[in-house]
Amino acid sequence: MTDKVKVATVSLAGCFGCHMSLLDIDERIVQLAGRVEFIRSPLTDIKRCTDCDIGLIEGGVCNSENVHTLREFRKHCRILVAVGACAINGGLPNYRNYVPLEECLGESYLDGIGVENPHIPNDPELPLLLDKVYPVHEVVKIDYFLPGCPPAADVFWKFLTDSLEGRDPSLPYELIHYD
Ligand code: SF4
Repeated sequence: MTDKVKVATVSLAGCFGCHMSLLDIDERIVQLAGRVEFIRSPLTDIKRCTDCDIGLIEGGVCNSENVHTLREFRKHCRILVAVGACAINGGLPNYRNYVPLEECLGESYLDGIGVENPHIPNDPELPLLLDKVYPVHEVVKIDYFLPGCPPAADVFWKFLTDSLEGRDPSLPYELIHYD
């Protein structure tokens, strides 16, 4: 157990599609499970990131909790990986960057179609939205980027097997896409 490579994963401002694509490695997950121990991840019930070898970050940074979580990952993960378009450049959620935050909140909670009892949620339990959606590399140092929306299962497989076998991870041309 102890010689397994420890991997943490998280979805920040993501859609969980990148995690679904990781699971698309299908039966190879059994092989992976023999060599990898997932620690903090939506796939486990572990709540906090502790020291590990690889951290996979899905999603950009849209609120204060994302910033906190991302910094926690950077502190604990030896290798930190931006997974997917959202983590790399903000992805589709960064379309809100073209609209002032106040207008976004107004449309959603005050005067949009079908809004009842209009008010902007302000419970202190809720993380505050940032002015914009940011790519993760604007908040912490990132070691690798896996492109795609989502990256194909083979991208995860190639990256993880290269890393597990001590090779510098590299993707063949046919696995590099941004859509
Ligand atoms: S990159 Fe695509 S699949 Fe991954 S979290 Fe963003 S929208 Fe979802």
